[in-house]
Amino acid sequence: MTLQDALWFDPTRIFVDGAWRQPSGGGTIDVENPSTGTVIGAIGRGTAEDVDAAVAAAQAAMDGAWGRMSATERGRIMSKMATLVLERAEKLAMIEALDVGKPLHQSRNDSIALARYLEFYGGAADKLMGTTIPYQDGFTVYTLREPHGVCGVIIPWNYPMQILGRAVGAALAAGNACVLKPAEDASLSSLAFAAIAEEAGLPAGALNVVTGFGHDVGSALSGHAGVDHVSFTGSVGTGERIQAAASRNVVPVTLELGGKSPHIVFDDCDLDKAMPTLVGACMQNAGQTCSAASRVLVQRGVYEEVKRRMAEIYRGLEAGPAIGSHALGPLVSRKQKQIVSSYIEIGRKELAIAAEGKIRDDAAAEGNFVAPVLFADVPPDHKLAQEEIFGPVQVLIPFEDEAEALKIANGTPYGLVAGVWTRDGGRQMRLARKLHVGQVFINNYGAGGGIELPFGGVGKSGHGREKGFEALYGFTRVKTVAASHG
Ligand code: NAP
Ligand code: MG
Repeated sequence: MTLQDALWFDPTRIFVDGAWRQPSGGGTIDVENPSTGTVIGAIGRGTAEDVDAAVAAAQAAMDGAWGRMSATERGRIMSKMATLVLERAEKLAMIEALDVGKPLHQSRNDSIALARYLEFYGGAADKLMGTTIPYQDGFTVYTLREPHGVCGVIIPWNYPMQILGRAVGAALAAGNACVLKPAEDASLSSLAFAAIAEEAGLPAGALNVVTGFGHDVGSALSGHAGVDHVSFTGSVGTGERIQAAASRNVVPVTLELGGKSPHIVFDDCDLDKAMPTLVGACMQNAGQTCSAASRVLVQRGVYEEVKRRMAEIYRGLEAGPAIGSHALGPLVSRKQKQIVSSYIEIGRKELAIAAEGKIRDDAAAEGNFVAPVLFADVPPDHKLAQEEIFGPVQVLIPFEDEAEALKIANGTPYGLVAGVWTRDGGRQMRLARKLHVGQVFINNYGAGGGIELPFGGVGKSGHGREKGFEALYGFTRVKTVAASHG
């Protein structure tokens, strides 16, 4: 299937107020296939003027058919969207594989996850309730859980379908209208999502998609005076700019900014169970996962064995074209390949390499392929143990005891996810309390997974929670009504 076979909409148009239109400047941005380095299409280059139109359409939707729609009906439309996503799952997977280089088995997962978000939040739409509050005699007091209004949603290129599913899904279920700005390197699936919303009968203006550059469209959206809430997933630097822009309008912001998440492997764990996950939780999506377990902290008693067994797995890892069945695809862009390669170069000079994977012979030289690398005996304060690399690179760090493991685990500016591998129940509970992260996995690890599980960070990993029922609280605000009886 070529990209043109998979597309059933014109990707050079943006979706505003329930209609497809050319961006106001008439510009386009090339779409490159990361597996081949060739241009395979184009998307529209939106402008600040297009953002104005999209925000106005979203405001009108809140005052119109969308704002008046019952929660049950909102949920029904979202269920219909979920059905359409499942019907188109293979096309969506193909679009994503060609646009961002994600291997088909992973992009299929993303299509299914998008459907699951729509099912989960569609089903939750009419179960989001306020409370009654015991107050003084002669009063009835209750709370209303209301939508913020217009939500600006800015997403990255690594899991477009999953991230738009969790943000737009929860926002719509709670009754907000959205303006979605996808990453310029990964916009096609967001446009496909708009086409599906249109087909499912989502009222005009409830979802608007404006493609374009971050410095044009993203910046205009995050600082727009008509936006009531901003949800962002991406890098720390851009997150800081977005929070600063939103602060001028004093509106709430949810930031999910990645991490340097650890596996913590104790001597007493079930190594046979841990081994595939220790590697897979980072190599998934070629390491381009915000919750990738990119640090592997291992207690000295099993350190050499873990190193040997991980090295064996690494030697079997292959990177190749997204349309294929190997573990890793290319990285999303030349820029990302350069960033990751420069970290690997530093590691080659300053650290020991435990093992490397391969780039397949059938991988095009112009593709953005990077062979996976496992570094051993890495000092916890080394650049490669502190910074988010966002590529197929893991560092092994030995530790003596629980106290040292905790110190190293909590010793980066990030705090998103942690995996704890031990059979000791007390230790599981102690670490779950003391780790500075938003999610702890005990004897398992769910990188990017679990739509039902609240997710988000502390420190430079951001703030606010997405996923699960918890996200619905973030996409609503509470109004208290105190009624006097007399
Ligand atoms: P990024 O700049 O944070 O991009 C994320 C989103 O923000 C994209 O839609 C981007 O649009 C938009 N954006 C860029 N500048 C903006 C601005 N001034 N105002 C509003 N929106 C703006 O990330 P990146 O440059 O693509 O990747 C850089 C690094 O970020 C990666 O190496 C990785 O470490 C990290 N990252 C983390 C995650 C995560 O899941 N937490 C995801 C992706 C990247 P354009 O793409 O059109 O510029
Ligand atoms: Mg692309």
